[in-house]
Amino acid sequence: MGFTEYVGIDLGTANVLVYMKGKGIVLNEPSVVAINTDTNEILAVGEDAKQMLGRTPANIIAVRPLRDGVISDYDITEKMLKYFIRKTCGTSRFFRPRIMVCVPSGVTEVEKRAVREAATQAGGRDVNLIEEPIAAAIGAGLDISKPGGIMVMDIGGGTTDIALIALGGIVASTSIKVAGDKFDEAIIKYMRKKHKLYIGERTAEELKKSIGTAFTRAKEVTMQCSGRDLVTGLPREVTMTSNDMLEALDEPLQQICEAAHSVLERTPPELAADISDSGIILTGGGALLWGIDKRVKQRTGIKVTIAEEPTTCVAKGTGMALDNLRVIESSRLNKRQSYI
Ligand code: ADP
Ligand code: MG
Repeated sequence: MGFTEYVGIDLGTANVLVYMKGKGIVLNEPSVVAINTDTNEILAVGEDAKQMLGRTPANIIAVRPLRDGVISDYDITEKMLKYFIRKTCGTSRFFRPRIMVCVPSGVTEVEKRAVREAATQAGGRDVNLIEEPIAAAIGAGLDISKPGGIMVMDIGGGTTDIALIALGGIVASTSIKVAGDKFDEAIIKYMRKKHKLYIGERTAEELKKSIGTAFTRAKEVTMQCSGRDLVTGLPREVTMTSNDMLEALDEPLQQICEAAHSVLERTPPELAADISDSGIILTGGGALLWGIDKRVKQRTGIKVTIAEEPTTCVAKGTGMALDNLRVIESSRLNKRQSYI
């Protein structure tokens, strides 16, 4: 009948992606929900809701329910997940796909159960969860079943997850709440201190995406940026440079590099040799920050490769995992569940 049987969902702190076998990525929207606080009613989800961030009247708030890598509000997360599943899979009672969901690594058992239930209610036939580093590695095209170790570093919106994988399971890992959002915050702080200019989150993100820098550039780039002058209270424009960005982002970048270093320190010696051969694979939106690969290499002394299409790796890997259930059976999360 041509039904897509497998659906992989990357429930990220910043973006939700849906991957369908045979179709590829069918949805990629911010994990944002706009709510009317007077009535508790959901007004918009995804892209429409993101447009409202920082622009809403007093009785409307735009929230990111997974911002810090934990589910801050079950109800909203559930509704958001259902909305995205129905948007991509339809509401037919006869089409019940197998769903694999990738959740941030800080999510607790209770929260995972809530995610499973929400996906089932939204029409999933057989809902399973996968650990993010495993999904990222599969999506990056790596063979996780090999005994040789693989190191993945996923820099998302709320969290950076670093893991060493061997034989389909996680050998050593860490998750820190320093990622894309912290980069934006660091830029806001820098503008305030250095230029006495108040800029919003969206402006900070624009600066990061266009001139953000993690390693000295041979050729400096600049961008005009406007905000509100902290002294006069009036709008004002300044020209920002990539060198400013390097300075602004220094602290969160150092924290991320330290985290990678700490995982390497906990790597068993046999695997350490593999890692220095294969290097570290970067995934997630943060992998697109200019020079991040060079910065991590500088700190760890290990080769760093940015995955092809780093922002869709986890979603792809989550969808593909349904084809490889046996391979990932040994991973911690899946040990607790039976599949068939
Ligand atoms: P999550 O998996 O946590 O939802 P993503 O992997 O989708 O997060 O990454 C989102 C983060 O990546 C955001 O903070 C976003 O600003 C950042 N990002 C996206 N594109 C770029 C870019 N070109 N340069 C730097 N950061 C980027
Ligand atoms: Mg992610």
